[in-house]
Amino acid sequence: MKTIGLIGGMSWESMAHYYSGLNEGIKAKLGGLHSAKIAMVSVDFAPIEKLQHLGDWDATADILIDAAKNVEVAGADFVMTCTNTMHEVAPKIEEEISIPILHIADATADAIKDKEFKKVGLLGTAFTMKRAFYKGRLTDKHNIEVITPNDEERKIVHDVIYQELCLGEIKDTSKAVYLKIIERLAKAGAEALILGCTEIGMLVNQSDTNVILLDTTAIHAEKAVELATE
Ligand code: GLU
Repeated sequence: MKTIGLIGGMSWESMAHYYSGLNEGIKAKLGGLHSAKIAMVSVDFAPIEKLQHLGDWDATADILIDAAKNVEVAGADFVMTCTNTMHEVAPKIEEEISIPILHIADATADAIKDKEFKKVGLLGTAFTMKRAFYKGRLTDKHNIEVITPNDEERKIVHDVIYQELCLGEIKDTSKAVYLKIIERLAKAGAEALILGCTEIGMLVNQSDTNVILLDTTAIHAEKAVELATE
Protein backbone atom coordinates (compact mmCIF):
# COMPACT_ATOMS: atom_id res chain seq x y z
CA MET A 1 0.00 0.00 0.00
CA LYS A 2 1.24 3.51 -0.84
CA THR A 3 1.56 6.23 1.78
CA ILE A 4 -0.88 9.11 1.27
CA GLY A 5 0.51 12.58 1.92
CA LEU A 6 -1.96 15.09 3.33
CA ILE A 7 -1.68 18.84 3.70
CA GLY A 8 -4.57 19.58 5.99
CA GLY A 9 -6.09 21.94 8.48
CA MET A 10 -7.91 24.11 5.93
CA SER A 11 -10.10 23.80 7.83
CA TRP A 12 -9.51 21.13 10.48
CA GLU A 13 -13.29 20.61 10.52
CA SER A 14 -13.20 19.08 7.03
CA MET A 15 -9.87 17.40 7.69
CA ALA A 16 -11.55 15.13 10.21
CA HIS A 17 -13.81 13.91 7.37
CA TYR A 18 -10.81 13.30 5.11
CA TYR A 19 -9.13 11.23 7.81
CA SER A 20 -12.16 9.05 8.44
CA GLY A 21 -13.00 8.85 4.71
CA LEU A 22 -9.52 7.58 3.82
CA ASN A 23 -9.53 4.98 6.58
CA GLU A 24 -13.07 3.84 5.82
CA GLY A 25 -12.11 3.50 2.16
CA ILE A 26 -9.03 1.40 2.93
CA LYS A 27 -11.02 -0.74 5.36
CA ALA A 28 -13.76 -1.32 2.76
CA LYS A 29 -11.17 -2.30 0.18
CA LEU A 30 -8.71 -4.38 2.22
CA GLY A 31 -10.85 -5.42 5.17
CA GLY A 32 -9.95 -6.44 8.72
CA LEU A 33 -7.60 -4.17 10.59
CA HIS A 34 -6.22 -2.45 7.51
CA SER A 35 -6.01 1.32 7.73
CA ALA A 36 -4.62 4.09 5.54
CA LYS A 37 -0.88 4.82 5.60
CA ILE A 38 -0.81 8.59 6.01
CA ALA A 39 1.86 11.26 6.36
CA MET A 40 0.18 14.51 7.31
CA VAL A 41 1.06 18.11 8.01
CA SER A 42 -1.82 20.10 9.42
CA VAL A 43 -1.35 23.88 9.20
CA ASP A 44 -2.76 26.81 11.18
CA PHE A 45 -5.61 28.08 8.98
CA ALA A 46 -5.95 31.60 10.48
CA PRO A 47 -2.89 33.18 8.79
CA ILE A 48 -3.70 31.42 5.53
CA GLU A 49 -7.27 32.77 5.50
CA LYS A 50 -5.92 36.30 6.09
CA LEU A 51 -3.42 36.00 3.23
CA GLN A 52 -6.12 34.61 0.87
CA HIS A 53 -8.33 37.62 1.48
CA LEU A 54 -5.36 39.99 1.05
CA GLY A 55 -4.64 38.29 -2.26
CA ASP A 56 -1.13 37.27 -1.17
CA TRP A 57 -1.18 33.82 -2.77
CA ASP A 58 2.63 33.67 -2.94
CA ALA A 59 2.82 33.78 0.84
CA THR A 60 0.21 31.01 1.14
CA ALA A 61 2.22 28.98 -1.38
CA ASP A 62 5.34 29.28 0.80
CA ILE A 63 3.45 27.78 3.76
CA LEU A 64 2.07 24.89 1.71
CA ILE A 65 5.37 24.21 -0.06
CA ASP A 66 7.00 23.82 3.34
CA ALA A 67 4.23 21.42 4.40
CA ALA A 68 4.49 19.44 1.15
CA LYS A 69 8.25 19.03 1.54
CA ASN A 70 7.78 17.69 5.06
CA VAL A 71 5.13 15.26 3.87
CA GLU A 72 7.49 14.05 1.15
CA VAL A 73 10.35 13.58 3.62
CA ALA A 74 7.96 11.65 5.87
CA GLY A 75 7.58 9.07 3.12
CA ALA A 76 4.46 10.04 1.17
CA ASP A 77 4.16 8.56 -2.33
CA PHE A 78 1.79 11.30 -3.47
CA VAL A 79 0.28 14.38 -1.86
CA MET A 80 -3.21 15.82 -1.51
CA THR A 81 -3.96 19.41 -0.57
CA CYS A 82 -7.15 18.91 1.42
CA THR A 83 -9.01 22.00 0.26
CA ASN A 84 -10.34 23.10 -3.10
CA THR A 85 -9.36 26.75 -2.70
CA MET A 86 -5.69 26.19 -2.02
CA HIS A 87 -5.31 24.38 -5.34
CA GLU A 88 -4.76 27.93 -6.54
CA VAL A 89 -1.11 27.31 -5.59
CA ALA A 90 -0.91 23.64 -6.67
CA PRO A 91 1.40 24.42 -9.64
CA LYS A 92 3.84 26.18 -7.29
CA ILE A 93 3.86 23.22 -4.89
CA GLU A 94 4.33 20.81 -7.79
CA GLU A 95 7.53 22.61 -8.82
CA GLU A 96 9.09 22.11 -5.40
CA ILE A 97 8.50 18.42 -4.72
CA SER A 98 9.24 15.23 -6.61
CA ILE A 99 6.08 13.29 -5.74
CA PRO A 100 2.83 13.85 -7.69
CA ILE A 101 -0.13 15.91 -6.49
CA LEU A 102 -3.56 14.33 -6.60
CA HIS A 103 -5.47 17.39 -7.85
CA ILE A 104 -8.99 17.70 -6.41
CA ALA A 105 -10.43 19.20 -9.63
CA ASP A 106 -9.08 16.30 -11.70
CA ALA A 107 -10.56 13.75 -9.28
CA THR A 108 -13.89 15.62 -9.48
CA ALA A 109 -13.71 15.80 -13.28
CA ASP A 110 -13.22 12.01 -13.40
CA ALA A 111 -16.35 11.54 -11.27
CA ILE A 112 -18.30 13.87 -13.59
CA LYS A 113 -17.10 12.11 -16.74
CA ASP A 114 -17.86 8.67 -15.24
CA LYS A 115 -21.49 9.78 -14.97
CA GLU A 116 -21.36 11.39 -18.42
CA PHE A 117 -22.49 14.81 -17.18
CA LYS A 118 -21.72 17.68 -19.52
CA LYS A 119 -22.88 20.67 -17.49
CA VAL A 120 -22.53 21.03 -13.73
CA GLY A 121 -22.98 23.69 -11.05
CA LEU A 122 -20.18 24.68 -8.70
CA LEU A 123 -20.42 25.87 -5.10
CA GLY A 124 -17.31 26.83 -3.17
CA THR A 125 -15.41 29.84 -1.90
CA ALA A 126 -15.51 32.93 -4.13
CA PHE A 127 -11.94 32.07 -5.11
CA THR A 128 -12.94 28.60 -6.31
CA MET A 129 -16.10 29.82 -8.05
CA LYS A 130 -14.38 32.67 -9.88
CA ARG A 131 -10.72 31.95 -10.45
CA ALA A 132 -9.29 29.92 -13.32
CA PHE A 133 -7.42 27.30 -11.27
CA TYR A 134 -10.62 25.35 -10.69
CA LYS A 135 -13.45 26.38 -13.00
CA GLY A 136 -10.99 26.91 -15.84
CA ARG A 137 -9.37 23.54 -15.27
CA LEU A 138 -12.74 21.76 -15.46
CA THR A 139 -13.61 23.58 -18.65
CA ASP A 140 -10.28 23.78 -20.49
CA LYS A 141 -8.68 20.50 -19.43
CA HIS A 142 -11.79 18.35 -19.04
CA ASN A 143 -14.31 19.99 -21.36
CA ILE A 144 -17.00 20.29 -18.69
CA GLU A 145 -19.37 23.28 -18.71
CA VAL A 146 -19.53 24.88 -15.27
CA ILE A 147 -22.16 27.31 -13.99
CA THR A 148 -21.86 29.23 -10.73
CA PRO A 149 -24.18 31.25 -8.47
CA ASN A 150 -24.86 34.92 -9.20
CA ASP A 151 -23.01 37.68 -7.31
CA GLU A 152 -25.46 37.85 -4.43
CA GLU A 153 -25.62 34.06 -3.99
CA ARG A 154 -21.85 33.79 -4.33
CA LYS A 155 -21.32 36.15 -1.42
CA ILE A 156 -23.67 34.14 0.79
CA VAL A 157 -22.02 30.83 -0.13
CA HIS A 158 -18.56 32.30 0.55
CA ASP A 159 -19.48 33.92 3.86
CA VAL A 160 -21.18 30.79 5.20
CA ILE A 161 -18.00 28.81 4.49
CA TYR A 162 -15.63 31.13 6.35
CA GLN A 163 -17.94 32.45 9.07
CA GLU A 164 -19.77 29.22 9.92
CA LEU A 165 -18.61 25.94 8.38
CA CYS A 166 -14.87 26.39 8.95
CA LEU A 167 -15.77 27.13 12.60
CA GLY A 168 -17.89 23.99 12.83
CA GLU A 169 -21.20 25.90 12.94
CA ILE A 170 -24.03 24.20 11.08
CA LYS A 171 -27.16 26.35 10.75
CA ASP A 172 -30.55 25.33 9.36
CA THR A 173 -31.02 28.81 7.87
CA SER A 174 -27.78 28.49 5.86
CA LYS A 175 -28.72 24.99 4.78
CA ALA A 176 -32.05 26.29 3.43
CA VAL A 177 -30.30 29.05 1.46
CA TYR A 178 -27.75 26.62 0.02
CA LEU A 179 -30.52 24.23 -1.05
CA LYS A 180 -32.36 27.07 -2.77
CA ILE A 181 -29.22 27.98 -4.72
CA ILE A 182 -28.62 24.32 -5.60
CA GLU A 183 -32.19 23.99 -6.93
CA ARG A 184 -31.82 27.20 -8.95
CA LEU A 185 -28.61 26.01 -10.61
CA ALA A 186 -30.26 22.68 -11.40
CA LYS A 187 -33.15 24.55 -13.04
CA ALA A 188 -30.55 26.52 -15.02
CA GLY A 189 -29.36 23.25 -16.53
CA ALA A 190 -26.80 21.82 -14.10
CA GLU A 191 -27.01 18.01 -14.23
CA ALA A 192 -25.19 17.77 -10.90
CA LEU A 193 -23.78 20.13 -8.29
CA ILE A 194 -20.13 20.11 -7.23
CA LEU A 195 -19.78 20.75 -3.50
CA GLY A 196 -16.46 22.39 -4.32
CA CYS A 197 -15.47 23.24 -0.81
CA THR A 198 -14.48 20.53 1.61
CA GLU A 199 -16.80 21.78 4.37
CA ILE A 200 -20.07 21.97 2.40
CA GLY A 201 -20.78 18.27 2.93
CA MET A 202 -21.17 19.10 6.64
CA LEU A 203 -24.14 21.35 5.73
CA VAL A 204 -25.96 19.59 2.89
CA ASN A 205 -25.95 16.01 1.76
CA GLN A 206 -27.67 13.81 -0.77
CA SER A 207 -30.67 13.08 1.47
CA ASP A 208 -31.56 16.81 1.39
CA THR A 209 -32.20 17.11 -2.35
CA ASN A 210 -32.98 15.26 -5.57
CA VAL A 211 -30.21 17.19 -7.34
CA ILE A 212 -27.12 14.98 -7.66
CA LEU A 213 -24.39 16.24 -5.34
CA LEU A 214 -20.70 15.65 -5.95
CA ASP A 215 -18.94 16.01 -2.62
CA THR A 216 -15.30 16.85 -3.34
CA THR A 217 -14.07 15.66 0.07
CA ALA A 218 -15.47 12.17 -0.53
CA ILE A 219 -14.40 12.11 -4.19
CA HIS A 220 -10.84 13.22 -3.38
CA ALA A 221 -10.55 10.62 -0.59
CA GLU A 222 -11.96 7.83 -2.80
CA LYS A 223 -9.46 8.64 -5.54
CA ALA A 224 -6.63 8.52 -2.99
CA VAL A 225 -7.73 5.11 -1.76
CA GLU A 226 -7.76 3.90 -5.36
CA LEU A 227 -4.23 5.25 -5.96
CA ALA A 228 -2.87 3.95 -2.68
CA THR A 229 -4.06 0.43 -3.34
CA GLU A 230 -3.22 0.22 -7.05
N1 GLU B 1 -11.89 23.96 2.65
C1 GLU B 1 -12.36 24.96 1.79
C2 GLU B 1 -12.21 24.56 0.34
O1 GLU B 1 -12.32 23.41 0.04
C3 GLU B 1 -12.19 26.38 2.14
C4 GLU B 1 -11.09 26.72 3.07
C5 GLU B 1 -9.91 27.23 2.32
O2 GLU B 1 -9.93 28.40 1.96
O3 GLU B 1 -8.98 26.48 2.06
O4 GLU B 1 -12.05 25.36 -0.53
